Amino acid sequence: MERFDVCVRGAGIVGSCLALSLARQGLQVALVSDASGAARGGAAEDVRAYALNAVSVGLLKRLKVWDALPEHAATAVHDMHVEGDAAGASLDFSAWEQCVGELAWIVDAAVLERQLADATRFAPHLSIVASGTGAEGPQAALTALCEGKASASRSALGVRWERHDYGHRAIATRLVSDRPHLNRARQWFRAPDVLALLPLDAPEPGRSYALVWSLPDQNADAMLALAEADFEQALADATGGACGALHLAAERAAWPLAIANAEPWCGNGWVLVGDAAHMVHPLSGQGLNLGLADVVALARVIEERESWRALGDEKLLRRYARERAAPTWAMGRVTDGLLRLFSSPGRGTQELRNRGLTLVNHLAPLKRWLASRALGS
Ligand SMILES: Cc1cc2nc3c(=O)[nH]c(=O)nc-3n(C[C@H](O)[C@H](O)[C@H](O)COP(=O)(O)OP(=O)(O)OC[C@H]3O[C@@H](n4cnc5c(N)ncnc54)[C@H](O)[C@@H]3O)c2cc1C
Repeated sequence: MERFDVCVRGAGIVGSCLALSLARQGLQVALVSDASGAARGGAAEDVRAYALNAVSVGLLKRLKVWDALPEHAATAVHDMHVEGDAAGASLDFSAWEQCVGELAWIVDAAVLERQLADATRFAPHLSIVASGTGAEGPQAALTALCEGKASASRSALGVRWERHDYGHRAIATRLVSDRPHLNRARQWFRAPDVLALLPLDAPEPGRSYALVWSLPDQNADAMLALAEADFEQALADATGGACGALHLAAERAAWPLAIANAEPWCGNGWVLVGDAAHMVHPLSGQGLNLGLADVVALARVIEERESWRALGDEKLLRRYARERAAPTWAMGRVTDGLLRLFSSPGRGTQELRNRGLTLVNHLAPLKRWLASRALGS
């Protein structure tokens, strides 16, 4: 059987980017792909759109994937408006205030996955292997597990997976409005739901949105069961018409929400990357950004290794795990803390959180710091 330098298991966005990054270093890479589509939340095509920060976009540019995306697949966010659950409690971010071109890019998940699939198919030093080809899979000095949150190989290695389920699900779909989005993202933080509308340019340029609506399981079931017109009415009630009249433009899909972390992240000959290593709530739009920052860090650690050091050396892999542990832990705590604060029904907590939102809005340095964390700068 052919022997590779690195075997990347899982051809999601994280696995594909890691395989491309390592192949560009001249390493012989096997990318193990399955066609289960389990990551799509049950939909025929992924209806999600990802808010990507500057680090993620920088990686996709270096891999020559960003410039190959069709224009409608990536929309710049210039402003972001966050509302609390009391009148007037809000927080606004803008790109000009942050002195950046855009706060984030909203990228069509399905189009990005297709573009990455094309790039991996034609990349030198990279072979795509169908999962299930041989019990052991390709032989390699290092196996990078990028199999997502339900990684079977992680379980087979006996890695601890500490997971807390929120009992909530995120409903995602695409919407078209009768009003232009003006490159503004909107988010509503309330008890018990969190709703985000992210500007997109497809299917209708300038008037489309990606919806991410996190709700307790029972409410999510009820929303998914609603007829289209009733779902649109529920959205109109939840957004107060702030984005105009919204109409469904795709099927609805749902994902269970949890926070999770693997321990350890690496061992002799193997390493965890992306959702296989950690999971956060999508309210901050950071799960994939964390995974792509993992890719940047691991590729750099491998490139800068001593010439005598083996690719699967645990000491080498621990450099990556150490570098990524703190930012991942911090993002998990921030999203978890926000969620707990905004899901508590008590009047005292409600007043506290809404005052906090308004206070942050008036503290420019704190606001700049918060935005720079999310921007990845
Ligand atoms: C509703 C929602 C909205 C989100 N929005 C954002 C956002 O705006 N910004 C952001 O940064 N993040 C966001 N996220 C998080 C983001 O979706 C994940 O962090 C990201 O998809 C993880 O990528 P991954 O490649 O690590 O894992 P996955 O996307 O799960 O990919 C894993 C791949 O491995 C394959 N696989 C599994 N097992 C095997 C095996 N044994 N052999 C071979 N292949 C295997 C799977 O089929 C899949 O293709 C959101 C998540 C949700 C649920």
